[in-house]
Parts: sequence; C-alpha cells; structure tokens
Amino acid sequence: MAGLSAAHELIERGFRVTVYEPAYLGGKARSHDVPGTARGGRMALPGEHGFRFFPGCYQHVTESMERIPLRGGGNVKDRHLINVETAVIAFDEAGYAPTTAPASIMGFVDHAADIVELDNLRNALMTGLKFVVDIPPHELAYFVSRELIIATSCQQRRLGQWENTPWIQFVKAKGKSPAYERYLAGALTRALVAAKSHTASARTIGQIGLALATSATGLIGQYDAGLVNGGVDRILNAPTNHAWIDPWVTHLRTRGVRFVMNEGVADFAVSGGRISGARLQSGGTVDADWYVAAMPLDRLKPLVTPGLVGADPLLAGIRGLEDDWMVGIQYFLSRRSDIPPSHIAALGTPWALTGLFQARPWNVDFATTYGDGSVRDCLSIDISDWEKPGILYGKPAKRCTKQEIAREVWAQMSRAMNSGGKKLLRSEEIVTWSLDPSVTWSPQIANATPLMVNTAGSYRNRPTAHTRIPNFFIGGDHVRTNIDLATMEGANESGRRAANAILAAADSSARPATVFPLWELPMLEPFKAEDRKRYKAGQPHFLDF
Ligand SMILES: Cc1cc2nc3c(=O)[nH]c(=O)nc-3n(C[C@H](O)[C@H](O)[C@H](O)COP(=O)(O)OP(=O)(O)OC[C@H]3O[C@@H](n4cnc5c(N)ncnc54)[C@H](O)[C@@H]3O)c2cc1C
Repeated sequence: MAGLSAAHELIERGFRVTVYEPAYLGGKARSHDVPGTARGGRMALPGEHGFRFFPGCYQHVTESMERIPLRGGGNVKDRHLINVETAVIAFDEAGYAPTTAPASIMGFVDHAADIVELDNLRNALMTGLKFVVDIPPHELAYFVSRELIIATSCQQRRLGQWENTPWIQFVKAKGKSPAYERYLAGALTRALVAAKSHTASARTIGQIGLALATSATGLIGQYDAGLVNGGVDRILNAPTNHAWIDPWVTHLRTRGVRFVMNEGVADFAVSGGRISGARLQSGGTVDADWYVAAMPLDRLKPLVTPGLVGADPLLAGIRGLEDDWMVGIQYFLSRRSDIPPSHIAALGTPWALTGLFQARPWNVDFATTYGDGSVRDCLSIDISDWEKPGILYGKPAKRCTKQEIAREVWAQMSRAMNSGGKKLLRSEEIVTWSLDPSVTWSPQIANATPLMVNTAGSYRNRPTAHTRIPNFFIGGDHVRTNIDLATMEGANESGRRAANAILAAADSSARPATVFPLWELPMLEPFKAEDRKRYKAGQPHFLDF
C-alpha cells in the first residue's frame, strides 16, 4: 500500500519510479487465487490475506481509488467501493444471541425485513437485556466518559499521557464486570484492529473509536459517511486484487512506473551520511537519487544497520516496534447465506474472530463465477488472537496444525452465530477452505506477514516518512501518520508523506500530495483549549477522576 501510493504520487509529478517487489504487489492487502480451484471457464476461488474494511473515516485510500481509471469507464471508488449497511454482533457466551443491527437509517430501510424479523427481534431484546444486566449503567457511563476524555483532550495530553497508557488501564477495566472488559474494553481492540487491550495505546484506540463514531453521525462533512445514507463500513464488491490492486498496477505501468518483481532490497549502503546504493536480494545493486523503504516492519528491522543508525540515530527506534499475527481464512460454502450484507463481530471468541459473507454484498453468483460450480458463498474470517487456547483442542492457534485451525475457527464462529433461533452456520455446507498461505509449517509454524501493532508508547519509536538521511524515506503502516493505526489508510498516507518529502528534497515546484487530517468535531475545541491549560499546569483532565 505504501509503495504503490508513493509511486502513484511521484509518477504523477514527473519522477522516474521503479518498484522492487519480492513477493506480491498489494502486500498484506492482496487477494489471491486459491490454487487448483478454477474449473470449466470459471475463475479460481477467491482467497485473501484477510477481508478488507474501509471505514467512513478513511480518506487517503479512497482518494487514491478515485484516481485509478477502469477499462470501460469510471474509477475504482465509483465502481467497486460499496457501503455495508448492517452489522451482525455475535457473542461467545450463553444468554446472548447474534443480532443484525442497522448501521444507518438507509440500512434499516433497505434491510427492514431481516432486522424486524421475529428471530432477530427476539435475539436483539435478549442480548440487550442481558447486556444491561451484565454491565451496570454506571460502568457504561464510565466507558462513555473515557471516550469523552479522548475527544476533549488536547494533542499534548494525547501524546504525552494517553499514548503511553495501555487501553485497558485507560478504561480502568480492573474491578469492573467481566462483560465490561470483554465487550467494551475488548471490542475496539481485538475485534477491530488485532491489538491487545493490555498493550495497545489508549491514544490510538481511543482516537480510532472516536473517528468511527463521529463519521457515523454524519456531523463531519469531510467524511463520506452519514447517519442517513451510511458508509461508516465499506468494502470492495470483488476480490481486492480484481477490484483495486490489479487496475492500480496497470494504471501505474501505463503512467511509466517500472515494476521489478521477485526482487527486494537486501541492504542500504551508507556513505557520507547519504544512501550510496541499495543491494538487492539477487545480488545486484541500485543507484538512485532517492530511496523509499516501503517494506513491512519485520523486513525493515534487519535493514536498520549501524551504518543507517549512525546517519540517523532516530531510526534505532524501529527496532523497538512490535508486530503480531492477524490472518484470514476463507470457508467456501454450498449455500448462499441469506443474512444481509454485514460484517460479523464474534465478540468474546477466544481467537477474536470477525467475518463477512461475500456473495450477497458482492452481488455475484459464486457458482457461475468461481470454482467448480458447487460453491455458492464464501465466509471470510480474520483470526486476530493466535495465543489464547481454543474450544476444541484447548490450544492456541500458534500451536495448531492447519486442519486444527480450520476446525477450531469454524467451531468458535458456529458457537457464536448459532446461539440464536437459527442455525446460521452448518458444517455440512463447507465445500473447501483456504488459510492464508503466508502461514506455513516447516516444521514450526511461521507467519511471513505479521502486522505492526500500535503498543502504548510506540509513537516515539515510529519513524517519520522523512529521515535525517537526505535521500532516504520510509513508507509503511509503522510510519507516523494522522490516522495513527496500522491500516491500509495509514500506509497510503505514509506513501504520500514520503512522496512529499522527496518533492521537498528535490526542490520540486510540483503540488504536494494531499494529506488529510483525522477530522474532529469543531464544537469540542473550547474543551481542548481548557485541557491544554490544565495539561501545561500538570493537572489531570477535567473528566479524569
Ligand atoms: C488479516 C488482516 C486484515 C486486515 N484488514 C484490514 C482492513 O480491513 N482495513 C485496513 O485498512 N487494513 C487492514 N489490515 C492492515 C493492512 O493490510 C496493512 O496495514 C497494510 O497492508 C500495510 O501496508 P504496507 O504498505 O505498510 O505493508 P504491506 O502491505 O506489508 O506491503 C509491504 C510490501 O513490501 C514488500 N517487501 C517485503 N520485503 C521487502 C524488501 N526487502 N524489499 C522490497 N519490498 C519488500 C512485501 O512483499 C509487500 O508487498 C489488515 C491486515 C491483516 C494482516
């Protein structure tokens, strides 16, 4: 994401750009063909690293999509980005039941038949009542007041105090009801962004929670989302590579970007405080005017050599950043699901599962489009916790075989989804499944594509897109950005920032690439101004008691 975005901005501004890619263009955002599954003129079954979610507060990726033209007219955003107007909340606990809820007024209108259906109403009432019993009103009010603290904290406090506070400590889960910790404190972290609530930064989690909530209200004009028409949850209506990455690469090629595949950077040579060349994995070298290191954190760390740190000591912080596992699995099913297009949050499941049935939102006949004709839907699930024991084998995912993972995920998702009036998941309907190929066993389990996590205090170690090395720039979801969360949006913003830093280094008169702020409600400004004074005076936030 960061590399393609930097290439896009630079090629439009007259630079000659070469992208070196050792594995797959699209990186962690790519989708892929499940090998050996294409039959009778149909496409292979669509596999993916993990399903893609584009919240209403995203601005950079969607603006890039608008600048990718498609054969037959239109652009990626117009033709492929669609709203998902309902959500299924399922729980891994007896007494709760999976409930389909509208995400907007139009979501309610369009899917009223499913939402007010007797089973769903009963599930919603049961779940709502149990929630009220399990989480006392004063705890709910307390949680809301913690989000309000983030909303009304000045930037200095957010960076100086909340950045260094783990989310679980910030929302003070200790001593509160188990449901408070599980569903309020845990939902925004594990289910949403693969972060652990006891290590994630309160600033990162609080800010993204705020951005999601405010974009849903429609009070922020700059976001596409609103209370009436929705858009707080968006997806692509086809596999990510078909809809977005492939047309993007084609467009960049047409504009003149050179792609060198099966090739990556092995080392940056430093001389006189500048990069004097890059050594490639094949042994060749590259001599360029400017270098953008847009590889993931785990691949960047070994390249942060004493030579690089000698030229820019701040780069040493990269070694202190952390990543974690979040990986997708797809179940290909013989029956098309009839639940409305929705993301599924299976709250409280040991492996922190989220999912999405794809046939209905993609509006596609799977049987005539993909596979051998027997598959009618795909349930794509992200596994965000690889360390907690599961319910079938009592082992964490990291200690399971591939088959055990597939069975365990299905069992956990079924337990959460089938606890209402209907059996929504039936194992006899699984035709086949596909776990992301980046997870391998040889013989130890390994994940070739871990995801950077925004742990408390990590901001100080995160690099900026420009460095003190005048011809060296960094892109990736680990770079400091406005959204401040390891996402495609953050990576895209980092690519733009790297491009802008190159424009500055090259003394270019070209217009800089747009970098969007994370918008917040203007009416909160007076509270933030007051908090600025209090923070300067060493006083706590006025709601922090
Ligand atoms: C399961 C899962 C689901 C996710 N879902 C979402 C979502 O719904 N919404 C969202 O916004 N984000 C999501 N994310 C996060 C998002 O995918 C990443 O934050 C984003 O892809 C990061 O982009 P990047 O450019 O920093 O890195 P990557 O996507 O990792 O790309 C880096 C590229 O660098 C290449 N590379 C590696 N080594 C070298 C080298 N030595 N030289 C040159 N190139 C190299 C890699 O092959 C890769 O192509 C998800 C992540 C996961 C794991």
